[in-house]
Amino acid sequence: MPLHNKIISGLIFGLLLGIASVFFGIGNYITDWVMPFGTIFVKMLKLVAVPLIFVSLVSGISNLRDTSKLSRIGGKTFGIYVLTTISAIILALILANTLEPGEYFPEEKTAELKEKYASDANMKITSAKNVEDSGPLQMMIDVVPDNFFYSASNNKNMLQIIFFSVLFGIALVLSSKKKSDPIKKAFDGLNEIIIKIVEIIMEYAPIGVFALLAGLIVDLAGDDPNNIITTLKPLLYYAITVLIGLSFMVLVFYPLIIYLVTGVNFKSFFKAIFPAQMLAFSTSSSAATLPVTIDCCEKNLGVKKEVRSFVLPLGATINMDGTSMYQAIAAVFIAQVLGMDLDISQQLTIVLTATLASIGSAAVPGAGMVMLVIVLGSIGIGADKIALIFAVDRLLDMIRTVVNVTGDSAIAKII
Ligand code: ASP
Repeated sequence: MPLHNKIISGLIFGLLLGIASVFFGIGNYITDWVMPFGTIFVKMLKLVAVPLIFVSLVSGISNLRDTSKLSRIGGKTFGIYVLTTISAIILALILANTLEPGEYFPEEKTAELKEKYASDANMKITSAKNVEDSGPLQMMIDVVPDNFFYSASNNKNMLQIIFFSVLFGIALVLSSKKKSDPIKKAFDGLNEIIIKIVEIIMEYAPIGVFALLAGLIVDLAGDDPNNIITTLKPLLYYAITVLIGLSFMVLVFYPLIIYLVTGVNFKSFFKAIFPAQMLAFSTSSSAATLPVTIDCCEKNLGVKKEVRSFVLPLGATINMDGTSMYQAIAAVFIAQVLGMDLDISQQLTIVLTATLASIGSAAVPGAGMVMLVIVLGSIGIGADKIALIFAVDRLLDMIRTVVNVTGDSAIAKII
């Protein structure tokens, strides 16, 4: 059976097991005995991320003849990333303003949801406060590491690893051939080994996805299946609006631009990146999915090493079209619930802040909601209002991560 079929089977069986265990009230067994296999899978993916970025980026750059090509790739990548993010936000605003999901929200639920999710919301608000308190150029400062080993010891420091790897790669190209050749060969060899490790981990993906999905259902429903329905009901229109936007990105926007620019058709594109999309869906983390995104783009989409090793890690960190789209819809939805009319300047503020907020969101589950606090602040809405949409965030996070990963892959191919 091809791997992607095995992964889909894992996903379906995981969902079924999750639902069945909620019905039979044995959710805690799933949490204790099944979910750990999912956690192990995510840990293995994360384990390989830092070595993979370092080795593949150095080996990619060292094969370039002149380093000016790198700045051309960098410029194009950044430009297209920002362009697709802004398109996603504009689309989000059109959707939220025409479908008006806030109008369907039952008013009496406002106080209830605020109370129920107050402490969860507070945790996000505290994380957002740290970002808000920093100066305008803090992001630039943060990209530059002061200790390689410190940066490499935390997957959060992806941009610092990229910075050091690019520096190392450029220095390797500029060094004398006699000295640099053995190092280049060593990096090429290491690169192959790490890609093999990713493939070994992927053999385990069907089990990992199975366990993650079963655990997730139990986590959402507890031991009572009615929990999911009561949670979803008041936020149904909001969730549908976000889903329409996200589906449009995955099913129309990216396939169309990739077809127009590269000639790769819908079916080939999806076949190529399907394993990465499935992992994004089950892990809700573009960072954990990154090794597989890189593997799919190389093997199935034929993206060159110097491009994929640079464009994809950067994309996983700063290009989050799904996240920016969700942040814009969520901001307008909350404004509608509060009875606020957003004028054109406030909508433009959302375009700007959601672009920056998605760039600043970490590639981990739930990070988009932390930065949503900043988008809300920019249009005068209090941070505590995120409690209103907390209940469905985990589910929407799975889909927006699929969009984030699909966008990175499409742009890597375009570049
Ligand atoms: N989970 C998303 C990602 O990793 C970020 C977010 O929107 O929360 O891509």
